[in-house]
Amino acid sequence: MNRFREWMYRFMRDRYGYDELNYTLFAGAIIADLAGIFTGVQACMVVSLILLILVVSRALSRNRVKRSAENRIFRERTVVPRRLFKAWSMGRKDKAHRYYLCPKCHQICRVPRGRGEVNVHCPKCGMEFTRRS
Ligand SMILES: [Zn+2]
Repeated sequence: MNRFREWMYRFMRDRYGYDELNYTLFAGAIIADLAGIFTGVQACMVVSLILLILVVSRALSRNRVKRSAENRIFRERTVVPRRLFKAWSMGRKDKAHRYYLCPKCHQICRVPRGRGEVNVHCPKCGMEFTRRS
Protein backbone atom coordinates (compact mmCIF):
# COMPACT_ATOMS: atom_id res chain seq x y z
CA MET A 1 0.00 0.00 0.00
CA ASN A 2 2.85 2.35 0.78
CA ARG A 3 4.35 1.80 -2.68
CA PHE A 4 0.99 2.61 -4.26
CA ARG A 5 0.81 5.87 -2.29
CA GLU A 6 4.32 6.81 -3.41
CA TRP A 7 3.50 5.98 -7.02
CA MET A 8 0.28 8.00 -6.78
CA TYR A 9 2.15 10.92 -5.22
CA ARG A 10 4.72 10.89 -8.02
CA PHE A 11 2.00 10.55 -10.66
CA MET A 12 -0.04 13.49 -9.36
CA ARG A 13 2.88 15.69 -8.26
CA ASP A 14 2.98 18.07 -11.23
CA ARG A 15 -0.61 17.62 -12.41
CA TYR A 16 -3.11 20.48 -12.43
CA GLY A 17 -5.84 18.98 -10.25
CA TYR A 18 -9.28 20.47 -9.68
CA ASP A 19 -10.56 24.01 -9.91
CA GLU A 20 -13.94 25.74 -10.20
CA LEU A 21 -14.21 25.04 -13.93
CA ASN A 22 -13.61 21.32 -13.33
CA TYR A 23 -16.21 21.18 -10.54
CA THR A 24 -18.72 22.92 -12.82
CA LEU A 25 -17.94 20.58 -15.73
CA PHE A 26 -18.33 17.61 -13.38
CA ALA A 27 -21.70 18.91 -12.14
CA GLY A 28 -22.73 19.39 -15.78
CA ALA A 29 -21.73 15.81 -16.55
CA ILE A 30 -23.83 14.49 -13.67
CA ILE A 31 -26.83 16.62 -14.72
CA ALA A 32 -26.49 15.44 -18.35
CA ASP A 33 -26.18 11.85 -17.13
CA LEU A 34 -29.31 12.11 -14.97
CA ALA A 35 -31.19 13.80 -17.83
CA GLY A 36 -30.14 10.91 -20.08
CA ILE A 37 -31.29 8.33 -17.54
CA PHE A 38 -34.70 9.92 -17.00
CA THR A 39 -35.45 10.93 -20.59
CA GLY A 40 -33.73 8.06 -22.38
CA VAL A 41 -32.02 10.45 -24.82
CA GLN A 42 -28.69 8.95 -25.88
CA ALA A 43 -27.21 12.39 -26.72
CA CYS A 44 -27.26 13.30 -23.01
CA MET A 45 -25.04 10.30 -22.24
CA VAL A 46 -22.61 11.36 -24.99
CA VAL A 47 -22.49 14.92 -23.61
CA SER A 48 -21.91 13.52 -20.12
CA LEU A 49 -19.06 11.32 -21.36
CA ILE A 50 -17.41 14.23 -23.22
CA LEU A 51 -17.64 16.41 -20.11
CA LEU A 52 -16.13 13.65 -17.94
CA ILE A 53 -13.25 13.20 -20.40
CA LEU A 54 -12.68 16.97 -20.25
CA VAL A 55 -12.66 16.90 -16.43
CA VAL A 56 -10.13 14.05 -16.25
CA SER A 57 -7.89 15.49 -18.97
CA ARG A 58 -7.87 18.93 -17.27
CA ALA A 59 -7.17 17.40 -13.85
CA LEU A 60 -4.27 15.31 -15.16
CA SER A 61 -2.86 18.07 -17.37
CA ARG A 62 0.71 19.22 -16.76
CA ASN A 63 0.11 22.56 -18.50
CA ARG A 64 -0.83 24.47 -15.35
CA VAL A 65 -0.54 27.90 -16.97
CA LYS A 66 -3.06 27.09 -19.69
CA ARG A 67 -5.49 25.41 -17.24
CA SER A 68 -5.26 28.41 -14.89
CA ALA A 69 -5.96 30.77 -17.78
CA GLU A 70 -9.04 28.71 -18.73
CA ASN A 71 -10.25 28.84 -15.14
CA ARG A 72 -9.64 32.60 -14.92
CA ILE A 73 -11.68 33.19 -18.11
CA PHE A 74 -14.44 30.95 -16.72
CA ARG A 75 -14.49 32.93 -13.45
CA GLU A 76 -14.59 36.27 -15.29
CA ARG A 77 -17.51 35.19 -17.48
CA THR A 78 -19.58 33.68 -14.67
CA VAL A 79 -19.22 36.48 -12.11
CA VAL A 80 -22.93 37.47 -12.29
CA PRO A 81 -24.47 33.99 -11.73
CA ARG A 82 -21.91 33.21 -9.01
CA ARG A 83 -22.69 36.49 -7.18
CA LEU A 84 -26.45 35.95 -7.65
CA PHE A 85 -26.10 32.52 -6.04
CA LYS A 86 -23.99 33.99 -3.21
CA ALA A 87 -26.55 36.79 -2.61
CA TRP A 88 -29.34 34.22 -2.62
CA SER A 89 -27.52 31.96 -0.12
CA MET A 90 -26.68 34.95 2.13
CA GLY A 91 -30.36 35.96 2.04
CA ARG A 92 -31.41 32.46 3.09
CA LYS A 93 -29.21 32.62 6.20
CA ASP A 94 -29.96 36.25 7.13
CA LYS A 95 -33.69 36.79 7.59
CA ALA A 96 -33.26 40.44 8.71
CA HIS A 97 -31.83 41.65 5.38
CA ARG A 98 -32.27 41.24 1.64
CA TYR A 99 -29.37 41.04 -0.77
CA TYR A 100 -29.31 42.56 -4.26
CA LEU A 101 -26.71 42.86 -6.98
CA CYS A 102 -25.77 46.32 -8.20
CA PRO A 103 -26.83 46.44 -11.89
CA LYS A 104 -23.67 48.37 -12.81
CA CYS A 105 -20.78 46.67 -10.99
CA HIS A 106 -22.48 43.47 -9.63
CA GLN A 107 -21.49 44.25 -6.02
CA ILE A 108 -23.71 42.51 -3.44
CA CYS A 109 -25.73 45.16 -1.56
CA ARG A 110 -27.54 44.47 1.72
CA VAL A 111 -30.76 46.24 2.70
CA PRO A 112 -33.00 45.72 5.76
CA ARG A 113 -36.15 43.66 5.18
CA GLY A 114 -39.69 44.96 5.53
CA ARG A 115 -39.12 48.64 4.68
CA GLY A 116 -41.08 48.65 1.40
CA GLU A 117 -39.44 50.30 -1.61
CA VAL A 118 -35.91 51.42 -0.74
CA ASN A 119 -33.21 53.23 -2.65
CA VAL A 120 -30.14 51.00 -2.57
CA HIS A 121 -26.82 52.84 -2.67
CA CYS A 122 -23.99 50.68 -4.03
CA PRO A 123 -20.96 51.07 -1.73
CA LYS A 124 -18.54 50.21 -4.54
CA CYS A 125 -19.60 52.35 -7.53
CA GLY A 126 -22.08 54.72 -5.89
CA MET A 127 -25.01 53.83 -8.18
CA GLU A 128 -28.51 54.15 -6.72
CA PHE A 129 -31.33 51.78 -7.65
CA THR A 130 -34.76 50.97 -6.20
CA ARG A 131 -35.77 47.56 -4.86
CA ARG A 132 -38.49 46.14 -2.58
CA SER A 133 -37.06 45.13 0.78
ZN1 LIG B 1 -22.15 49.15 -7.97
